[in-house]
Amino acid sequence: MTSTLTRRRILQTGVAAAALTGMPQLAWAAGPVVKLRIMETTDLHVNILPYDYYRDAKDDAVGLARTATIVKAARAEAKNSLLFDNGDMIQGSPLGDFVAYRRGMKKGDVHPMVAAMNVLNYDCGTLGNHEFNYGLEYLQNSLGAAKFPLVCANVIKADGETMLKPWLILDREVTDEAGAKQKLKVGVIGFVPPQIVQWDKGHLDGKATTVDIVDAAEKHVPELKKAGADIVVALCHSGIAGGERKGGEENAALHLARVDGIDVILTGHQHFVFPGGKEFNNIEGVDAKAGTLHGKPAVMAGFWGSHLGVVDLELTREGNAWKVANFRTEARPIYERVDRKVVPKVESEAAVIAAVQADHDATLKYVREPVGSTSVPIHSYYSLVADDASVKLVADAQSWYVADLLKTTEYKDLPLLSAAAPFKAGGRGGPNYFTEIKPGPLAIKDMADIYIYPNTIRAVKVTGAQVREWLERSAGIYNQIDPAKGGEQDLINPKFPAYNFDVIAGVQYRIDPTQASRYDNDGKLVNPDARRIKDLTYNGKPVTDDQLFIVATNNYRAGGGGNFPGNDGSTIVLDAPDLTRDAIMRYIIDRKEVAPKADGSWSLVTPANVTMTFTTGPNAAAYQPAGIKVEKVGDAPEGFVKYRIVS
Ligand code: MN
Ligand code: MG
Repeated sequence: MTSTLTRRRILQTGVAAAALTGMPQLAWAAGPVVKLRIMETTDLHVNILPYDYYRDAKDDAVGLARTATIVKAARAEAKNSLLFDNGDMIQGSPLGDFVAYRRGMKKGDVHPMVAAMNVLNYDCGTLGNHEFNYGLEYLQNSLGAAKFPLVCANVIKADGETMLKPWLILDREVTDEAGAKQKLKVGVIGFVPPQIVQWDKGHLDGKATTVDIVDAAEKHVPELKKAGADIVVALCHSGIAGGERKGGEENAALHLARVDGIDVILTGHQHFVFPGGKEFNNIEGVDAKAGTLHGKPAVMAGFWGSHLGVVDLELTREGNAWKVANFRTEARPIYERVDRKVVPKVESEAAVIAAVQADHDATLKYVREPVGSTSVPIHSYYSLVADDASVKLVADAQSWYVADLLKTTEYKDLPLLSAAAPFKAGGRGGPNYFTEIKPGPLAIKDMADIYIYPNTIRAVKVTGAQVREWLERSAGIYNQIDPAKGGEQDLINPKFPAYNFDVIAGVQYRIDPTQASRYDNDGKLVNPDARRIKDLTYNGKPVTDDQLFIVATNNYRAGGGGNFPGNDGSTIVLDAPDLTRDAIMRYIIDRKEVAPKADGSWSLVTPANVTMTFTTGPNAAAYQPAGIKVEKVGDAPEGFVKYRIVS
């Protein structure tokens, strides 16, 4: 277990501690040494069995049943251990939605997430932002049966008290390295992103407010120390981000690490892995290799049960005070990827599966039942050459969701656009890799066909000039068509991924592929004089460069994915907590029947003397695109079919 690196750190820390206190090294070396293992699960989101309900298929990369086996092994290795959960427990999978929307959660009922967690004997937990998604009564009923305590220091009720106990002390008898019993008081304090009051305004208005995470820590950690805590573990349902502290940070774990008295920071919310995740390289104060925040041990255990966070502490006693003399941190995965395939590292724990089997079976029925219907076919066979219903449905749902969250903000009067790209559009996925849903019922298991990525929703504030450049970047999907050459010419650049072909709903425009692309495949401006986007209008009027827009999009794009103009993270005005496919699902439930309409809001300029061709799947034969006419030319390699644009 002790690597060379760790051993080196033991020495360094030991020497430093002795030097700092001026004590002879023997004095601390002779005292008791306690090894304490602290384990974290986080962002479980009602993922218990290895199952993806959106696809209605097995998924070995998720599920607490498998994490439980890792917990068991990790416990067996350690003399003393504690297990914590860091929040986002009761929402985030169709199993959770089944309980919330179908089965119900009365007082005394046991939530399946809690039933599963009770099997593992957690020592304490905290709340995540998603705990508030179904209202406070639901939250209370769901966590009522938990056999472990919960703490949260920064949600305040109308009467000024914290909603939960802000902190508690776990009185534990531990075994030291000499085999003697020692008493240890482990202080535990919890935090949630203060943004819950915006994200769940409907549920929290008038009932609860929030306090900045660091402010809450500065208030309560001294109380914990006064109450005798030997060490303090922060259950911080918040992620790791650099930069100066402004107050009210959503991802405050790094700032929290500076608070005196906190010894260990369990982080989460971002669904990343720490130590290890490359997302945290080059942030001042973060050591993503050693797993430290300002020198203190920290972990983030991925999401949906993907990892178990492990912090091993070596505690020494000086007089009556216990000190962290050494530590190591680790995130243990439940699976590994071998040749792009998910291979589980352990079997699922039978007792955890048994605890939720009935709710799992009921959820399988639930995801196969219609939640609404579509009156039109939803397919992506022509999504790269014409306005298309599969992309429009996503754009419509995003607009609906974002408009609701922005309606009480300063952005409410800005024109709202919505950007979405075809995800399943053939390409390397093959000739059957297209979205295709026939008119009729829509079930939850269809969501993966409509929106395959677990993206979350974002809104950005951009200028008319940035909207134009955003579309120019998208338009790079087309090869340059040469009218002088004439004849048949391939339209689509196969090296350009379809997920970067953002269509922006809410504006009208045409794309002229006879011009050179302004941007290359990586989003680099390569032809500053070229323009493919023509006749860009909003409400029938030309879009001006300084006009302001809100664009609904996803976390990938808004954070700089695909290198799109106007999207580098700095333009984000709404960082929404929900998965895009959850928003689509709720939109369908809300509408009961959807009819996403390809309305020809964008179209291709078709030069007279060129026949532009593209390939699509063989099932395209059953449909015609909106706004243009196409004709089958013949079979293409690898099972694709070649079409030409007639007009
Ligand atoms: Mn989460
Ligand atoms: Mg969260």
